[in-house]
Amino acid sequence: MSTKQSYRAFGCSHYSPVDCHQEDGVFVLEMECPREKERCSGCGSRVVIRRGSRQRRVVAPPLALQTTKLLINVPRLECRNCRRVLQAETPNVVPG
Ligand SMILES: [Zn+2]
Repeated sequence: MSTKQSYRAFGCSHYSPVDCHQEDGVFVLEMECPREKERCSGCGSRVVIRRGSRQRRVVAPPLALQTTKLLINVPRLECRNCRRVLQAETPNVVPG
C-alpha cells in the first residue's frame, strides 16, 4: 500500500504526509495541513494568518500489521473575518 493510500485510509485526505520514518519498530507518519486548505473552523473563511502550531500524536490502525503512529502538525489560525484564533480542523482520526 502506498503512503498516499494509507493516509486516505486514515481519513486524513486534506492533510499531506511530509515525512515517514521508523521509531523503535513503530511506523511514524508525519502529516501537515497544506496552506491552501487552511481555513477558519469557526466561520469557514480562508482569510487566515498562521499563529504557530501544535503537534499531536495519535495511534493509528496498524498498517501492514505494523504499529503506526501519526504525528500531526495542527496549525493555529487567526481569522481575519471573525477575529477568533482557532485550531485548524484536524483529520477525523484525532479524538476531540
Ligand atoms: Zn472565522
